[in-house]
Amino acid sequence: MGQGRPRVAVVGAGPSGLYAAAALAADPAGVDVDVIDRLAAPYGLVRYGVAPDHVRMKAVIRVLQQPFEPGTVRFLGNVHVGEGGIDLEELRRHYHAVVHATGCSVDRRLGVPGEELDGVIGSGEFVSWYSGHPDRITLDPPLAHPGVAVVGAGNVALDVARVLAKSADEMAETDIPDPVLDVLRGSGVTDIHILVRRGPQHVRFTPAELRQIGELAHADVIVHDDGQLAAGAREEHGGDKRQKQNLAMLDAWTQVQPAGKSRRIHLRFLRSPVEILGDGDGRVRGVVIERNAIVDGRVVATGERETLDVGLVVPAIGYDAHPIPGLPFDPATGTVPNVGGRVVRDGEPVAGAYVTGWIKRGPTGVIGTNKSDGHETAAAVLADLPNLPEPARPEPGAIRAALDDHGIRYVDWAAWQRLDAEEIRLGGERGNARVKVADRVAMLAACHPAP
Ligand code: NAP
Repeated sequence: MGQGRPRVAVVGAGPSGLYAAAALAADPAGVDVDVIDRLAAPYGLVRYGVAPDHVRMKAVIRVLQQPFEPGTVRFLGNVHVGEGGIDLEELRRHYHAVVHATGCSVDRRLGVPGEELDGVIGSGEFVSWYSGHPDRITLDPPLAHPGVAVVGAGNVALDVARVLAKSADEMAETDIPDPVLDVLRGSGVTDIHILVRRGPQHVRFTPAELRQIGELAHADVIVHDDGQLAAGAREEHGGDKRQKQNLAMLDAWTQVQPAGKSRRIHLRFLRSPVEILGDGDGRVRGVVIERNAIVDGRVVATGERETLDVGLVVPAIGYDAHPIPGLPFDPATGTVPNVGGRVVRDGEPVAGAYVTGWIKRGPTGVIGTNKSDGHETAAAVLADLPNLPEPARPEPGAIRAALDDHGIRYVDWAAWQRLDAEEIRLGGERGNARVKVADRVAMLAACHPAP
């Protein structure tokens, strides 16, 4: 390595990237860290994935922003790494190492007939919409029909169901943008069916999140378990404390009468969607579901079918990643092959290339999981830095000059803070802490106000 401080780029300003950036910047030897994101706003899934009503979970932002405040880490928002932006090869000319923390943004598909119909919206897209992601703010999901099917038994399915089950007035207390609130105000949704392909003992919900749907002001929870809980499913937690708590809750819900609230969340166990039905205009009008049995631990269809009357289907069955041009990719796991964060191709490390977060380990874990993950990757980078080749353009200002040359109007930390202040001001108008700006042009205008 040359004489200057080593330079590392972290691509992706979500929790995994920011934990890694903080760990790199904390190295006493001194490392220059730039965090690059294609959006003008930092925080990735904390901002665009954590449900708007999970305010306490978003408080982690206070930790994630810390290294930016004294300028220990620099933000370069509104910079897309890849086609139409700055390509990876060029980026590599400016840094000793690049840490990729771009997550998994592709909705997994159900693979059933009718999935192409208008009104089938993957959870990633749907969550991005209500979270005010600029790519999805114009989505306009069909919420006029009273029925919605949400497929999957993970926390994302619960988030989607809860947001649909809350009243618009409840959601108005969150940071959701006005266009989303307008759509929710017009919602005619009354029955949200969560379709779980296995039994109550197999859900991936966390108990705190499951409990919340039982505490909703305007929605009852109705458990359709075909007597599984009474027949012993509640004992099949295999010693897993989380599952034991889930089963106790589900069991209790089977024993209470619905209170007659205006909306209902139906938990339908041992059910898979097998076909989505459309009307003459190509819009969803129903979903055919089939009863499953669990045989030797495997899901087996029984042939027993029924149709649910729904106008929207949200598969919440996990995510895949987009391959990163120039890096190896394993389509089976949707991750970049790596050992402890070091990218490997054919068993050999790719010099200067690292991954962290979902693109490294797959779409699992809670926000905190990214801390240890980011630290592991940062430790690998720090250990390798002394032996990494000098980049062609190591001088600190060169990347900004290159972005200028490409006509990319990057958003630095001060510019993001202007957008942040604007969102807080809009929040004040609605009586909230914040209301998000979701339109890309408006976001950039708030970052770079006209002189
Ligand atoms: P997840 O926890 O992996 O759950 C995916 C669900 O989809 C599972 O129930 C799975 O069932 C089901 N599934 C997969 N393929 C299916 C198919 N073809 N048909 C029907 N069901 C199918 O994924 P997630 O909900 O997307 O969450 C991702 C991660 O983010 C998780 O670690 C989650 O805990 C975390 N998260 C946390 C929070 C929170 O803490 N509040 C909020 C959101 C997300 P099987 O089990 O049968 O495979």
